[in-house]
Amino acid sequence: MQLEIEEFRWAQEQNQIEVDWSDGHKTVLPGHVLRNGCPCAHCGLKRREQEAPETASASAAQVDFVDPVGLYAVSIGFKDMHVSGIYTYELLRELCYCPVCLPV
Ligand SMILES: [Zn+2]
Ligand SMILES: [Zn+2]
Repeated sequence: MQLEIEEFRWAQEQNQIEVDWSDGHKTVLPGHVLRNGCPCAHCGLKRREQEAPETASASAAQVDFVDPVGLYAVSIGFKDMHVSGIYTYELLRELCYCPVCLPV
């Protein structure tokens, strides 16, 4: 099933992205979660090498802009000038850490 987004909000003050999915699910993704899930090659490599997440610095976790990319992705840039992450809807849903998606 193709994931669809009913509503997409960037809550700038809370530094988080809120997504209402067409299946009724709601996802809230704070800046540090987005940054730790950044799909660009640079961040992927860092994660594979188990380096400390870059979100140690506050600006790295601060969302600077959100731009739609085509119909199924958004580009998210961070305040430390890290702008290479293209987040597909699928990825945004994967990053969801609500109790339903990540049962304790
Ligand atoms: Zn990245
Ligand atoms: Zn969820």
